[in-house]
Amino acid sequence: MFINGEWVTNRQQFPVTNPATGETIGEVPDCTDEDIESAITAADTAFGDWKKTTTYQRSQLLYRAWELMIRRKRELAVLMTREQGKPLKASLNEVQYGADFLLWFAEEAKRTYGQTIPSSRENQRFIVHKSPVGVVGAITPWNYPISMITRKLAPALAAGCTVILKPAESTPLCAKAMMEIFAEAGFPAGVINCITVQNPARVGTAFCTDPRIRKLTFTGSTPVGKELNGLAAANMKRVSMELGGHAPAIVFPDADPVHAAKGLSLVKYLNTGQACISPNRIFVHEGHLEPFISELTSRTKRLKAGNGMNEGVGIGPLINELALQKVDRQVKDAVARGAKIETGGQRLTEGELGAGFFYAPTVLSGVTEAMAIYQEETFGPVAPIIAYKSEDDVIAMANDTDYGLAAYIYSNNISTAIRAFEALDFGIIGINDINPTSAAAPFGGMKNSGLGREGAQEGIEEYLETKLGGLVI
Ligand code: ADP
Repeated sequence: MFINGEWVTNRQQFPVTNPATGETIGEVPDCTDEDIESAITAADTAFGDWKKTTTYQRSQLLYRAWELMIRRKRELAVLMTREQGKPLKASLNEVQYGADFLLWFAEEAKRTYGQTIPSSRENQRFIVHKSPVGVVGAITPWNYPISMITRKLAPALAAGCTVILKPAESTPLCAKAMMEIFAEAGFPAGVINCITVQNPARVGTAFCTDPRIRKLTFTGSTPVGKELNGLAAANMKRVSMELGGHAPAIVFPDADPVHAAKGLSLVKYLNTGQACISPNRIFVHEGHLEPFISELTSRTKRLKAGNGMNEGVGIGPLINELALQKVDRQVKDAVARGAKIETGGQRLTEGELGAGFFYAPTVLSGVTEAMAIYQEETFGPVAPIIAYKSEDDVIAMANDTDYGLAAYIYSNNISTAIRAFEALDFGIIGINDINPTSAAAPFGGMKNSGLGREGAQEGIEEYLETKLGGLVI
């Protein structure tokens, strides 16, 4: 843990496991209530001076952290693959994406403009000024263990806030590596703190109730997000919530089904399907079913599962046993209700795979709304295909979910694409695009997928208060 510029290690420890091998790869401290208190005190005390630094000073520190991340890109990626399981190439991409937020907000820090507003009174002036919200509590998930840290910390720091990070209990080593980078970049003591904990509820409660914390930023599951949001609301705290998703992908009649199957196979199995923007319901026009299923199945069969450090591995393990069981349950339920397994459909246990949490990349056809996989977020390497007849039907089916994070459309007709873009109730829509994300673009969802946006110009607004000065001259 990193509290007030110092490393804290002499606590009871909990182990960190490599999900590909089951091996323990490290251990981290389980924070005490006193540690939570010390971290909040440190962040609160540091805020006094940090908020007075210029945007140029803060920008310089973020820029330095960016440089260090880029220099250590491979080292960070190797750690991520060992701790989280994704193939090394995907880890390298994530470290780059994570670093992008530091650079983007090093630049945006200087653009936290206010306004002057004309008054109806001749001798009155209105000045609008942006000031940092205050101490921020940040809770991050394990699926993107580095980029979710920088996506939150970079805008918070750029705005002039101080931060306490609580990373996911499955991936604290990536958070520790990021703390080393921030410390080396020269952020003052107390500006960035990190506490690790095995049972996170205590920290969540402290973040939502301590009066010194002004803002909670959370990425994780919808049930936990709702609970924390409720507690934060009772204490009138600002929140950003990036929660679950159940992304539809629609292959329209005017799309090339083979091209769509290629794109969706790439995005579906990314991070072993453990992404809130993973396409979870693939709607294919009935006229395209045969070529689409055939291409997706053949690509899925070619994917090699294994330890992400090994050459040629295209898909890593799930994060743990529970995740495996959830996927297995959804697939069994779908099959019992009439779905067909085109490929996959079982846990992988051959040879070295038996020691990890591997599930075969799976294509299910004939999926209907009666199946759990149609209704629930999957978070696994399963591509469920649903046939549809008309545009109106498919838009209604795609929107028929409590989630509203990402959606994907394949169409070569601009009118179809724009109609769908406008009709879909989702925050991020990829149109013939499987990677509609960037530090420069707003990321976030509607409905039960959360509140607020990360990245982009909006990202820093989440950490700023608007202060009005009305003055008579
Ligand atoms: P996931 O399904 O991605 O593990 P979670 O919502 O359980 O989703 O976890 C996301 C983050 O939220 C992790 O950092 C986890 O430790 C944290 N978390 C889970 N439960 C709570 C809680 N009750 N209070 C605070 N943080 C929590």
